[in-house]
Amino acid sequence: MTPVGDEAGRIGHNGSDSKSPLAAVKNLRKVYSVQRGFFGRKSRYLRAVDGISLSVFPGETFGLVGESGCGKSTLARLILRLEEPTGGQVLFRGQDLETLSSRELRGLRKHMQMVFQDPYSSLNPAKRVGWLIAEPLVIHGVGNGSEIHDRVGSLMEEVGLNPKDRNRFPHQFSGGQRQRIGIARALALNPDLIVADEPVSALDVSVQAQVLRLLENLQKKHNLTYLIIAHDLGVVHYISDRIGVMYLGTLMDIASKEQFLNPPFHPYTEALLKAAPRIERTGTESKYAPLQGDVPSPLSPPPGCRFHTRCPYADMVCRKEPPLLEDKGNGHFMACHFR
Ligand code: ADP
Ligand code: MG
Repeated sequence: MTPVGDEAGRIGHNGSDSKSPLAAVKNLRKVYSVQRGFFGRKSRYLRAVDGISLSVFPGETFGLVGESGCGKSTLARLILRLEEPTGGQVLFRGQDLETLSSRELRGLRKHMQMVFQDPYSSLNPAKRVGWLIAEPLVIHGVGNGSEIHDRVGSLMEEVGLNPKDRNRFPHQFSGGQRQRIGIARALALNPDLIVADEPVSALDVSVQAQVLRLLENLQKKHNLTYLIIAHDLGVVHYISDRIGVMYLGTLMDIASKEQFLNPPFHPYTEALLKAAPRIERTGTESKYAPLQGDVPSPLSPPPGCRFHTRCPYADMVCRKEPPLLEDKGNGHFMACHFR
């Protein structure tokens, strides 16, 4: 067994270990200082992301799942450098984002784009859709007026919108169509990496499936790499090649889509699977009940294994020693003393 480090997730991606990651994070941390007390004088430290290492390889879909508040969105913002990390590294095509000038970072930004959960709040309601999709092109000075006009039309077609609707406002579209607008915006600059944070959580189940299929088709067509984040295991499992399971700022499990459904499971993954009846699977028989209680506060995470307070398998060692994320074979990484 090798402790996780730079190599996290190298093996096991489409059976190949020769590709270098498109994006990678190493021991990444983000600590927020939170005021407390009547006058807000005392600070407490909230460890939103607490030592995460993972790699996302070209052309793959890496899905990140975990209960609300476990640090998924913070990790996404750190990867896109929308926030500065407290510690650790973010690498894009092997380049440490920390070492880049703001100009270089701006150049790199073209290649990594974000799709947000709620297209309604991420789209300026006062702007017409054509303008919203053109905005990234204008900001990065790509093309003249008529080129941008044409590009917007073809982007709208690609995501299943009618280019004739370019003069309408976001509120005149349905939720699914608005997410298509968000995806068209993200595609405008021909990125390599798209980070989608809860891209279908705000949509009805039938519309979710359509948007997920659109993302799949666009990936094939443009050879996109996805980091898709969701609290819904069904969504993540459907779309991902590999899946990372987060709990209280740390990664508990990294598995391929197939490994994910076959034992041995990480106890937390096992609990999540039990709560996701939509996923067809085998071998999940277990005498234990689904997840109990709430996620502990990231202001005072449990010592040892963060999951031990809710884990039916927990023992003394789990209360004292944090388990390392280790390769348990074939690139299935787990942080558990007993698996
Ligand atoms: P998730 O996306 O998994 O629901 P988040 O990354 O949004 O989780 O949040 C992780 C933790 O960090 C939560 O406890 C959240 O309250 C806290 N958090 C997120 N952003 C901030 C911030 N700007 N200031 C203080 N705490 C924050
Ligand atoms: Mg979130």
